[in-house]
Amino acid sequence: MACRECHALTTGRKCPICGSTDLTENWSGIVVILDPDDSEVAKKMGVSKPGRYAIEVW
Ligand SMILES: [Zn+2]
Repeated sequence: MACRECHALTTGRKCPICGSTDLTENWSGIVVILDPDDSEVAKKMGVSKPGRYAIEVW
């Protein structure tokens, strides 16, 4: 499942990153953010915590 708010991937019912319960099975692509402060992708996506994120969520 992917969070619609921040794109984080989770197997639970709640987003571990932003706490949102607005999750969707409709996502594609995985990007792993290890160091958000030093990642162009993280900045582009507005990611501030390390983790696995979906590239596309709809
Ligand atoms: Zn989230």
